[in-house]
Amino acid sequence: MRIPRFYLPENLAIGHEITLSDNIFRHAIQVLRLTIGEPLILFNGQGGEYQARISEVTKRQAKAVLEQLNPINPESALYITLVQALIKPDKMDFALQKAVELGISAFQPLITRRSVVQVGKEKISRKLEHWQAIAVGACEQSGRTILPTILEPMSLEHYLAHSNSATRIILAPEANQTLADLKLTKPSKLDVLIGPEGGFSEEEVTLCLQAGLHGMSLGPRILRAETASIAALTLMQHTFGDL
Ligand code: SAH
Repeated sequence: MRIPRFYLPENLAIGHEITLSDNIFRHAIQVLRLTIGEPLILFNGQGGEYQARISEVTKRQAKAVLEQLNPINPESALYITLVQALIKPDKMDFALQKAVELGISAFQPLITRRSVVQVGKEKISRKLEHWQAIAVGACEQSGRTILPTILEPMSLEHYLAHSNSATRIILAPEANQTLADLKLTKPSKLDVLIGPEGGFSEEEVTLCLQAGLHGMSLGPRILRAETASIAALTLMQHTFGDL
């Protein structure tokens, strides 16, 4: 069995015995049935990961001893922000999970004209927690050691008004340039904008181009938003990152 891996946002140090969080207790002890002496891997989002071993199990909690620090670094040096227009919740979750696997550093949900889904103010914190949990799960699974930043949804206008040092690319089927055509110099920060199910409006694309974003096509077929983000991120990591 692969050694289970969990995110524990606490101070971790070799030799320490730490109490597992409720989430990890549920998963590692109640679901996976780990018992005393069995190995697990813990990381706290500050780089590297710890080899640990279950040292105590009671009905309600468990402890583990941290044995060794593995200074692995699977993080991409290319800082990609996926700027994803709100799409149906299950698709949004899917897009986020895949994007984390593909190494994004930040996730910026975007409110656009044709976003069918709206996130009410009162629901934002619950939504953010939900997205955070998806990102944590994807990091645990994919071996990442640093969690991507999950940002609050903002409108396209607001996004464009912010100063931003990243190279910014809006994906739009009507753009007639591919990534190769854009002839970009290798960026260290990249924002990738993907529209909602109904696409960006013409006016939104124009606003973005006026703001200096590059318009880019992913070829002659129309992809679903969640496919487009996977394809675009793969291309970016391949061309400028670590894929
Ligand atoms: N009905 C819309 C398609 C929306 S697809 C239309 O015809 O315009 C959802 C999003 O995926 C788009 O807003 C765009 O960001 C991205 N996308 C899908 N296919 C693409 C392609 N061939 N080139 C560039 N972006 C694409």
